[in-house]
Amino acid sequence: MRLTTVGCSGSMSGPRSAASTYLVQAEDETGRTWNLCVDLGPGGHGALMEHLDPRELDGLLFSHLHPDHMADVVSLQVYLRYHPEGESGPLETWGPVGTAQRISDVCWIPDWAELQGQFTVREHTPGQAVSIGPFRIEAVPVRHPVPAFGFLIEGPSESRGEAARIAYTGDTDSCPSVARLADGADLLLCEASFQEGREDFVRGIHLTGLRAGELAAAASGPEWDDDGAPRRPVGGLVLTHLPPWTDPDVILAEARSVYAGPIDIASPGGRWSV
Ligand SMILES: [Zn+2]
Repeated sequence: MRLTTVGCSGSMSGPRSAASTYLVQAEDETGRTWNLCVDLGPGGHGALMEHLDPRELDGLLFSHLHPDHMADVVSLQVYLRYHPEGESGPLETWGPVGTAQRISDVCWIPDWAELQGQFTVREHTPGQAVSIGPFRIEAVPVRHPVPAFGFLIEGPSESRGEAARIAYTGDTDSCPSVARLADGADLLLCEASFQEGREDFVRGIHLTGLRAGELAAAASGPEWDDDGAPRRPVGGLVLTHLPPWTDPDVILAEARSVYAGPIDIASPGGRWSV
């Protein structure tokens, strides 16, 4: 299973990257490659085209409906609908309650009948995993001002004969549910929008580099534990969703101060195999 950080700029598109857009790929037993797009922020559709033809997508997952995570669905809709080789879809699309309405609103196409050729929308149900090709996907509610989910994506390992696990936080502050999501994951794709000492007055929205590191390290404490069940550190940490005004080295140092495993800062086109 492979992760590509197609776009990783936090809260907005930036000078070097589209906003949150991720590609998860794996092969099934027949060798056929399956392609999942996880979030699709501003600029993400164009950046995605550097990696595949968007008509090759098998699934689209929205962690939440803030525009920096979904607004380039407008580009994908046009691409699927009006490609000169013909219309493509419908693409299996998962999101929080209200996703179909949100797509309709942002595309400015009020009649869903005009969109059903491009998207089949289903809503996340906590505790109910869904399968798309070789992937098993669990959506876990996290801590953000709007309904928001992190994803645990299981798929075939590139290096061993069992399932590998990628955990993606979406947008969240520290909470026991994201701690359970990250527990022992091979790779944690973790937002780190805030910086210690800079946004300390707002809680319930985002992680800092330090809190991302604590999550990766399976730190305990009232912000992470609810039942005292033991958790395991993750195999590797990818820090993402850093806004353009943030110095990545500061966030990296925060995470490094509490997590000893491998840490990368997401970059456009960055790839990891698990
Ligand atoms: Zn958000």
